[in-house]
Amino acid sequence: MSTSTQILNSIPVDPQTGAISVPIYQTATFVQEAPGVNKGYDYSRSNNPTRSALESVLAALENGSTGLAFASGLAAIDAVLKLLQAGDEIIAVDDIYGGAYRLFTHVYEKFGIKIKYVDTTDVLNVANAIGPDTKLIWLESPTNPTLKISDIAAIAKLSKQCGALLCVDNTFASPILQKPLDLGADIVIHSATKYLGGHSDLIAGALIAKDAELGAKLKFLQNAAGNVLGPFDSWLVLRGIETLSLRVFQQSNSALAVAKYLEQHPEVAAVYYPGLSSHPNHLLAKSQLKAFGSIISFRLKNDTKAAATAFLQNTTLFHLAESLGGVKSLSCLPCEMTHKSVPETKRREVGITDGFIRLSVGIEETEDLIADLAAGLKVISQSRIKELALA
Ligand SMILES: *Cc1c(COP(=O)(O)O)cnc(C)c1O
Repeated sequence: MSTSTQILNSIPVDPQTGAISVPIYQTATFVQEAPGVNKGYDYSRSNNPTRSALESVLAALENGSTGLAFASGLAAIDAVLKLLQAGDEIIAVDDIYGGAYRLFTHVYEKFGIKIKYVDTTDVLNVANAIGPDTKLIWLESPTNPTLKISDIAAIAKLSKQCGALLCVDNTFASPILQKPLDLGADIVIHSATKYLGGHSDLIAGALIAKDAELGAKLKFLQNAAGNVLGPFDSWLVLRGIETLSLRVFQQSNSALAVAKYLEQHPEVAAVYYPGLSSHPNHLLAKSQLKAFGSIISFRLKNDTKAAATAFLQNTTLFHLAESLGGVKSLSCLPCEMTHKSVPETKRREVGITDGFIRLSVGIEETEDLIADLAAGLKVISQSRIKELALA
């Protein structure tokens, strides 16, 4: 399911009242007719009708059996890790989301979970890393912030051969552009804070399991640990999903135009965007994604914090803020913001230098966005001319 028709059709009309918007069941508990006799709901941590409506839409969006809504993307990731036990090993993409890195390395390692980070853009690296304790393979594609692409279908085959689960963090692609479960993954997670919510107005997470048995285990963990999404935020995510397809395609179209604009700009040294033929895995991206998403990273020729800051402070449509995937365009300097906790040498290794900027393209008109970036870049050009004049 990925068209607007299918999405809108999957959101239920309230059977009791006919309300076209799913009601917000803001309740902790449900009155029982007799002990243990209820209408399918007994306590909102276990099940809540607003959350259930969202969870069935999530399952449909990713072609899974079970959808689960969590209080954040990291809470969804945490539930997957609770499937493991001491001694188990995870193989994870090296350019992993910083919060996932923190959870894996600084929380789960002390419970005896082992983690190997590898460059999963080469399937051979994954094959070589697999050992007898490998129980989970963790992918992001595209990654944050260097937009690396990994071959999900090929890595799914490896995971089947070694009996490990494959979990894909599909946040950057959204279910509109990529369906990892169809490519052989077992679990998909999302930070619903990003595209699913789509309006930068909530924190939420989603988890979708391919088969029902695994879905039931994860549902057990969701209830056992209690990291659930509340009814109001569930409703906000549902409302966001109604326009998901429209937003994602509009944002992807704009992003491609923006990436092409940046690529030819004299102040820009490199552009990272899977939709450009210069991207090292462009052909794989083309076969795996329906469009290339709205996140673009680029490096300034003047690769300094001063130049990057001048640029970031001189755009008006691109707001300087963490997060991505919303209707308003955002910009970010990863070395000072999202990736500050990554040691500098490691940051430089993956190309996150001082003048490395990440953009999240929103739904503003494409030509306005390009004009906004031009204004920011002009400030750098002007200061360079001044420097030359002073020299
Ligand atoms: C934001 C993000 C997360 C974490 O989600 P939260 O909702 O912030 O907890 C996980 N993975 C990726 C790729 C993200 O961008």
